[in-house]
Amino acid sequence: MSLNKQNNMRFKGEGVFSGIVVGKAFLVDRGKVEIPSYYPLNNKEEIEKEIKKFLDALELTRQQLLETKRGLEKKGYKEAGFIIDSHLMIVDDNILIKETTNHIRKEKVNAAWALKRTLKNLQTIFSEIEDEYLRERKNDLDYVGQRILRNLMGSEKPDMEKVTEKVIIVANDLSPADTAHLDLDKVLGFVTDIGGRTSHTAIMARALGIPAVVGLETITNQVQNGDTIIVDGVLGEVIVRPSKKILEEYLEKKEKYKYLEKEFLKFKPLQAETRDGYRVKLLANIEITEELPSVIYHGAEGIGLYRTEFLYLNRTNFPSEDDHFQIYRKVIEKISPNPTTIRTFDLGGDKFISRVPIAKEMNPALGLRAIRFCLKEVEVFKIQIRAILRASALGKVRILFPMISGMNEIYQIKKIMSEVKDELIAQGIPFDPSIEVGIMVEIPSAVIIADLLAQEVDFFSIGTNDLIQYLLAIDRVNEHVSYLYKPLHPAVLRIIKKIVEAAHSAGIKVSMCGEMAGEPFYTPILVGFGIDELSMNAQSILKVKKTIRTINYRECQQLVEKILEFSTAREIENFLQKELSSRYSGMLPDLQFSK
Ligand code: PEP
Ligand code: MG
Repeated sequence: MSLNKQNNMRFKGEGVFSGIVVGKAFLVDRGKVEIPSYYPLNNKEEIEKEIKKFLDALELTRQQLLETKRGLEKKGYKEAGFIIDSHLMIVDDNILIKETTNHIRKEKVNAAWALKRTLKNLQTIFSEIEDEYLRERKNDLDYVGQRILRNLMGSEKPDMEKVTEKVIIVANDLSPADTAHLDLDKVLGFVTDIGGRTSHTAIMARALGIPAVVGLETITNQVQNGDTIIVDGVLGEVIVRPSKKILEEYLEKKEKYKYLEKEFLKFKPLQAETRDGYRVKLLANIEITEELPSVIYHGAEGIGLYRTEFLYLNRTNFPSEDDHFQIYRKVIEKISPNPTTIRTFDLGGDKFISRVPIAKEMNPALGLRAIRFCLKEVEVFKIQIRAILRASALGKVRILFPMISGMNEIYQIKKIMSEVKDELIAQGIPFDPSIEVGIMVEIPSAVIIADLLAQEVDFFSIGTNDLIQYLLAIDRVNEHVSYLYKPLHPAVLRIIKKIVEAAHSAGIKVSMCGEMAGEPFYTPILVGFGIDELSMNAQSILKVKKTIRTINYRECQQLVEKILEFSTAREIENFLQKELSSRYSGMLPDLQFSK
């Protein structure tokens, strides 16, 4: 592959965790493919020697995996430990061992060549499998296969163990398997070719508080190991081999950013209240428990969205009631007395596929995902509901259901919940009988009947990530149509207004937990609409709080009235930029406004 050695190359992607880092690149993907050479074996002795070499390489791989697993467990990364388990299963797989030794024996070929053949056969079998979960395991097979080959060939491992300084990981994409093998203590930042805000890399980066830019398309072709790169997670920019001048500029910017971050911390003990006393609650979104320190550090008033999909990730079975319960307990103990809003699992669509037998679908975003899957697999659903109810005895818990499209789903959910409650009562197991029940409003049909839905639940949570996707018919993970993904589209703004009005007319609270909630630029609009709660990645909380404390509710109401008169997102954006900078010049979080 020819590399462009030009300096100062700028790439634009999507920043998923604000912050600026400068460091040396470490390529995860390149150098992964080991190409073994072929050589024939002449006698029995050579054959036995090759078989032993193969078995030794397997053993070495097993030891390396166990070592990684121990390291991860020490750091408390339990989810990643499950991935290593599935890798260990491949190392011990009978077919892999038998087929390879057979090749060596029968065809009298060297071990690396024989293993390559076995892997090729297995990969073909895996790609033809209907079951999405098993097909996904092909990535694990690739990973383990390469690792055994490398050990067999005695080649240098392009592994982080050799790296002594902190590095910026450059990858096509990071699968959970790749991440599990990274020494995260040595990671300064992530940059990837593919992926959006909800890809695995993005979620991990946010969870770990590491600046990242994803969706850079060709970054792995432009960077060499050891190149200096700048990752600007604020603007979603990556600069490869920067000149001295640019480097200095960025180091200065980095300091400014650090200073601003410190300034934002001053808002931590203050309430999120506009100058004229309109109070908005600011909560955090989490995916994994490792995010809790950041949630507390940034002063969240609770968890507004706990995405529980991670519990189902990379397992060979469904989590048990106790698996759910123990992890919820961990969250509630840290967050109490503030509320924890647990959303039942939302698998399918763009979400990770786990040991869930979801058939391959033409349009997964419109398929058997989230609540639809749960209402089909009621027993699986009940396990989670039972665990959430049990957890509600430990502190304030709210239950949230995703992807609601109509009233029937609510009726079915209520019936299931009351059956589970009856069981718990009969068994004398405590739970909060008045646990609040909410729904994600993220499908246009739910908005149209929001007045009816509001009669049945205790709160709404607006999921703008999906709402925009379904309203504007734009795949949220397809970079080719991302230019159309506009939170300021007049249709999006009108629909949000309608949701808030429907909720308030029915006397229930309305929250927003899509990405729009964490962008300070949109805060004045959401306040103008009368939103009660905003839930976002923890890192955005203080910026949004500063914005709220700068603005005036009355003025925001006038602002939205004006905005609703415009007919395009561009006009709205221009108007908003002008209006906000003239009214609150210099007082709002600058960096966000330079987007
Ligand atoms: C949303 O759709 O806006 C949302 C918060 O849920 P998710 O991103 O998990 O689909
Ligand atoms: Mg959603």
